[in-house]
Amino acid sequence: MSSTNQNTQADTTPTDRLAEILDNSARIQELSSGHEEEIQEADDDSDYETSDDDSDDGQNVHGWMASKLPPNLPFYFAGPGPLADGLETTTSAAQEKTMREVIDLMTGKGQTMTYVNAYGLPHLLKDKHAAFLRTILGRYPPPFQVMDASRPWLLYWALNGLRTLGVDVSEYKQRCIDTFTPLQNPEGGFGGGHGHLSHAAAGYAATLSLALVGGLDMIDRRAMWHWLGQVKNPSGGFNMAVNGEQDVRGAYCCMTIHTLLALPLALPPSSPARRAGLETFTSGLGSWISRCQTFEGGLGGAPDNEAHGAYAFCVLACLCLLDAPARSIPTYLNTRTLIRWLVSRQCAPEGGFSGRTNKLVDACYSHWVGGCWSLLESALNIDPAKSSLWHREALVRYTLSCSQAKKGGLRDKPSTRPDGYHTNYSLAGLSAAQYVYTYAESKQTEAEGAEALMVAFNWSFQRPTQQQMKEWCFDSSDLVEPVHPVFVLPFDIVENTRAKFAGKVGF
Ligand SMILES: [Zn+2]
Repeated sequence: MSSTNQNTQADTTPTDRLAEILDNSARIQELSSGHEEEIQEADDDSDYETSDDDSDDGQNVHGWMASKLPPNLPFYFAGPGPLADGLETTTSAAQEKTMREVIDLMTGKGQTMTYVNAYGLPHLLKDKHAAFLRTILGRYPPPFQVMDASRPWLLYWALNGLRTLGVDVSEYKQRCIDTFTPLQNPEGGFGGGHGHLSHAAAGYAATLSLALVGGLDMIDRRAMWHWLGQVKNPSGGFNMAVNGEQDVRGAYCCMTIHTLLALPLALPPSSPARRAGLETFTSGLGSWISRCQTFEGGLGGAPDNEAHGAYAFCVLACLCLLDAPARSIPTYLNTRTLIRWLVSRQCAPEGGFSGRTNKLVDACYSHWVGGCWSLLESALNIDPAKSSLWHREALVRYTLSCSQAKKGGLRDKPSTRPDGYHTNYSLAGLSAAQYVYTYAESKQTEAEGAEALMVAFNWSFQRPTQQQMKEWCFDSSDLVEPVHPVFVLPFDIVENTRAKFAGKVGF
């Protein structure tokens, strides 16, 4: 956007200015006639109210905005967007509240974290976040009984978050194994709590947690292979549990477990999908996944479901387990409409992502949507070091300015409490914004891949250059560890796991 347009009146608000720029008769927007007063009211209420003191003839609106802002803060993080929807709903009220809180934090008015980096953003409070995550690995008071089915997740969020902050978690190995031993069922897989049936999400979180502490030997791989065969659906997708619902979480979780444990591709003879005519775990999977793309271009959890950011990641990452992204993603998805839906998830002025159309920003989508970009850019042969489909600086600003709790932990949005889930996925999203992740074919993994799927091990990362850190507004002390774009684990953990089962045939 140009900052040198000399035709602009200096004392106009962004909304007024947009009305001047656009031809009223052709303007497509949600404000019907009669809403002008509301616009004026909103402007009166805004942080951009003009006064005589603001007169600065010769500058356009962007120049005027810049004079109001902290150094380096682009105007679009400092005020409401110029197009407003006049329909008032519970969601629009919540959006207004969140936006105002974000603007206060972005502009520094409501910011109480004073330890800032070279760009005026709060530093990443690594020690405090690590201390917060350690409490998740401690004892719980009785009200946390409601989390009983989420034991594997609590461990994964805490351990992965700590490793993303650069903390060694090997001290938790034995406790981790002790926790998961009673959750592993004789028929294979893991339940979420004691006595629970095996479940794809619990198995995913357990496998990743055990990988993080070097405890994968406690998994009964043969039994896991049999259990995965039980949840492979004859449609090509995966159920979350035996006789459970079928959705793309199941596909991503099961194929991640399958790949990390280097299990045989052939379906067990007892698998219902095998009896229905499918031969391998990947049979029919891409075609089933392609049915999850919606009219919006986004991806739902199952065919005919609403498009959702977390399912979008599960779809893209699952396709990247099957083949190189440039082959698997365009084969099964319409990438043009997917790009349009995904870019619409990044909010302004918030900078973070929403999970669905007409929903609010939420830091867990820093990963669920932020993690999609390297996969999609690779599919489209876009070099992320040269150009990008998304705004990394915006996500860095949301994470550092709005998502951090001063006492430790990261949160969904301002005015919410931090928790392990949002801490882990905020940090994973920050990693997506800070590093360049690329895919390259590898002869090594092809040679190893006689039985198992190996393509997802072909990713590498590049540390940000000084210039990139400047563009994306963080110091080296704000840098987290690189997080693998498919497995959502630290790269060294992924490599250890690959090496552990390299060349293994059978069990
Ligand atoms: Zn969330």
